[in-house]
Parts: sequence; structure tokens; C-alpha cells
Amino acid sequence: MEASEKMEQPCRLCDGSGEKMLSVFDKTEEGQQILHLIKECLPIIIYRTDPLSKQICEKCFNNLELVSRFKKSSQYTAEKHKENLRANWR
Ligand SMILES: [Zn+2]
Repeated sequence: MEASEKMEQPCRLCDGSGEKMLSVFDKTEEGQQILHLIKECLPIIIYRTDPLSKQICEKCFNNLELVSRFKKSSQYTAEKHKENLRANWR
């Protein structure tokens, strides 16, 4: 990590600062990069090379994980319902 990245930066998502800040380049427990989650779930784009904060607070990280899980579960449900429809047509 470069020195400039270590400087105190506000949260990229809520502009706040928490005790525990996470880098958008960190990975979640499932091995997904936070940057990837943001790209998937939020209407903002973070470029590796932009000069803005690359940190998010723990609260936003939890929200992000929640949205990500919600997104996945809704997709799963949609698939399941489609499967049910197909099964009933037979
Ligand atoms: Zn935040």
C-alpha cells in the first residue's frame, strides 16, 4: 500500500468516518473484493486511479453486504419461481 492510501480519508459512500475503515480493495469473507460489490450493487463507479477516498466505513460495508445478499436472494427466488412454473407446465 502506498503512503497516500494510508492517510485518513472519509468513507467513500457516506462521507463519514468510523473507527474501523476498510479499503475498497479488501476482500469479503466470500472472497469478493469490496470494489466489486460496490460496482454490482451501487450506482457509483470507483476507479482504481481516481484521486478520491478508497475507504469505506464498517457501517457502509455491512449495508453493502446486506444489499449484495438481498440482490442474490431475489435472483435465486426469481429462478426458483421460474423453475416452478416450468415444472407445473409439464
Ligand atoms: Zn460509510
